[in-house]
Amino acid sequence: MLNVLWLQSGGCGGCSMSLLCADTTDFHGQLRDAGIKLLWHPSLSLESGSEVIEMLNGVLDGSVRVDALCVEGSLLRGPNGSGRFHVMAGTGIPMIHWVTRLAAKAHHVVAIGSCAAWGGITAGGDNPTDACGLQYDDDRPGGLLGAAFRSASGLPVINVAGCPTHPGWVVDTLMALAAYSLAQADLDTLGRPRFYADQLVHHGCTRNEYYEFKASAEKPSDLGCMMEHMGCKGTQAHADCNTRLWNGEGSCTRGGYACISCTEPGFQEPGHPFHQTPKIAGIPIGLPTDMPKAWFVALASLSKSATPRRVKLNATADHVVVAPAARKTRLK
Ligand code: SF4
Ligand code: SF4
Repeated sequence: MLNVLWLQSGGCGGCSMSLLCADTTDFHGQLRDAGIKLLWHPSLSLESGSEVIEMLNGVLDGSVRVDALCVEGSLLRGPNGSGRFHVMAGTGIPMIHWVTRLAAKAHHVVAIGSCAAWGGITAGGDNPTDACGLQYDDDRPGGLLGAAFRSASGLPVINVAGCPTHPGWVVDTLMALAAYSLAQADLDTLGRPRFYADQLVHHGCTRNEYYEFKASAEKPSDLGCMMEHMGCKGTQAHADCNTRLWNGEGSCTRGGYACISCTEPGFQEPGHPFHQTPKIAGIPIGLPTDMPKAWFVALASLSKSATPRRVKLNATADHVVVAPAARKTRLK
């Protein structure tokens, strides 16, 4: 069995909430069948207080085996590096010291969500708590454990980034670890599992026809593509949100919200309102991954000149105002 220990640090608990929406009728049964044992989780386990402290001490003295240490939430190093903004209840010991010592014992260390991976929302603004990720400070390697950290498995911290992270990304990562089938080559350059990080949110977005013709939404609830005006970063965000739907049916873009690229380091401070696209001379700054600017400009002007009336009118409406024409489609 893969023994999983889950700790919550400086975050909102949203990744645990997300985990409970895992697409399964029997969450505990699925973990059990995959060979995963939840040693302890702050919301899902019955043990508390001295029982938990005893178990944590057991990990440190080697009598309790931890195969995957999952940390949710950022690590609070303040004030002045003491970590005393966040002391684990009943121990008098800062959480960052618990995490550092437990990480040294765990076979794998897994960052659950963008706070634990990069610092995330908790590290935004002036960052008064000096929050960081397990092995990154935004996109700078380092964080709490340091760039050189490798767990006993030889892997760096596995960054299951997302805000919140998708329950499927967590469950699939744990299942891969339980099956001994997650290696360095299965992680991208930022330590994210490639099974979801090799995708873009743009893949499978229901607004793709509008994107192709640069028929853009201009206000919330419009049906058009949200890249040009509404801040959508789906063409740059590494995630499979539109092919692995949330709660079996949704995604940000399907719900009418721009993708804010919550799986990427630094997403919390884009330097502009989340729902507005920053532009220079009318051209969005954040162009699709892999596309040279000149190509995009040429393609966009060509697309706009060829936009069908149906697509153009529907793009700025909250429902389909022009239906596709009914034509004979049989090939002659
Ligand atoms: S709304 Fe975003 S994800 Fe959807 S097609 Fe437009 S750019 Fe791509
Ligand atoms: S669509 Fe974008 S903002 Fe929404 S969960 Fe996916 S990566 Fe995060």
